[in-house]
Amino acid sequence: MSVGLGIPVVKPASGAGAALADSSARGLAEAPPKPRGAVMLPSDRPDEAGLIDRFGRSGTDLRISLTDRCNLRCTYCMPAEGLPFLAPPSLMSIDEITRFARIAVTEFGVRQVRFTGGEPLLRKDLVEIIRAVAALEPRPEISMTTNAIGLSSRAEALAEAGLDRINVSLDSIEPETFAKITRRPFLSRVLAGIDAVGAAGLVSTKINAVLMPGINDDQAVELLEWALAGGHQLRFIEQMPLDADHVWNRDSMITADGIRERLSVRYLLSPDEAPRDGAPAELFQVRERSAGADGPMLGLVGIIASVSEPFCSDCRRTRLTAEGAVRSCLFSHTETDLLGPLRDGADDRELADLWRGAMWAKPSGHNMNSAGFEQPDRPMSAIGG
Ligand code: SAM
Ligand code: SF4
Repeated sequence: MSVGLGIPVVKPASGAGAALADSSARGLAEAPPKPRGAVMLPSDRPDEAGLIDRFGRSGTDLRISLTDRCNLRCTYCMPAEGLPFLAPPSLMSIDEITRFARIAVTEFGVRQVRFTGGEPLLRKDLVEIIRAVAALEPRPEISMTTNAIGLSSRAEALAEAGLDRINVSLDSIEPETFAKITRRPFLSRVLAGIDAVGAAGLVSTKINAVLMPGINDDQAVELLEWALAGGHQLRFIEQMPLDADHVWNRDSMITADGIRERLSVRYLLSPDEAPRDGAPAELFQVRERSAGADGPMLGLVGIIASVSEPFCSDCRRTRLTAEGAVRSCLFSHTETDLLGPLRDGADDRELADLWRGAMWAKPSGHNMNSAGFEQPDRPMSAIGG
């Protein structure tokens, strides 16, 4: 057991506003010093190096949110008026992000780092952040989830800095539908960003899409046709109860079955044989229905069925919010502050133990399908999807 900090590091994640107000105080120079003392790893945790939990899972896939701000207002994620965003001093700096990433890579064996947000492209220092993380030994694979606005002018610099892969979120290629979902008329900027990814030589673009009944569910085939033509792997994500407005309900989502049904109007889907290996998306080979099962394969489509077919038992993710708190699960109601202790002088060993303790307490699953499920206060944009 190691010595750590005696501060109340596990706090309820009590709503974007409250959490943000609390942590914005932490970034200010006049914030009072916090007392230091001893905190132990949970006594029932075996003395293992990785980010293990009680259910035999290991956190090897790190998602780092770089900001809670965004230039879109997707209805399933952000309210129209935005949120009380974090003050800049509360965000992790390049050095702080790199230090956490180094701990993850060297202490926990993390091999994949994904930057997300909010919108990560809003960070002016994104290229420097990627360059610093790419310099770690061993070098992790670096990816980013983005809405692609502004990517056209930065894709090359990001690739040169070490970004390996990009996922772009795009729910419709119809300008009106896009504007309705995102509450912004920026489709052409997103498409320009996607084009730039190929030109920059990044390994792949995956496209993430959320289908909503009566809004874009009739465009599933059109979106897949567009993605196949451009050589992008499209993944449909079931809408989860992580909207800021808390209006999600089962009638406002299209399940994996519903997605397959809509695609089957034109396409034949057959399960891909490659092992899933902890990936959230179940992959299907796509063929024209008219060509039959022996027809040429046009590409792959993924379905991320977090709600109707949860994959929690194989979850390998550990998340850091933009203000440096560990969330062991998207649906956690508590989080563990790491940035406060770092700024108070904690050493790597202390930070690693806090992180290990947080992940040891990871719940077995999101429990979304049980009667007692409660939506977390933080919306997706303030967690880091
Ligand atoms: N702004 C970037 C983007 O949109 O790609 C990164 C952050 S966004 C929160 C990450 C992913 O979460 C996006 O693919 C988005 O579609 C997805 N997302 C947001 N809210 C969601 C929800 N309620 N259910 C399912 N997926 C959601
Ligand atoms: Fe912004 Fe991404 Fe949320 Fe849309 S899904 S509002 S692009 S953070």
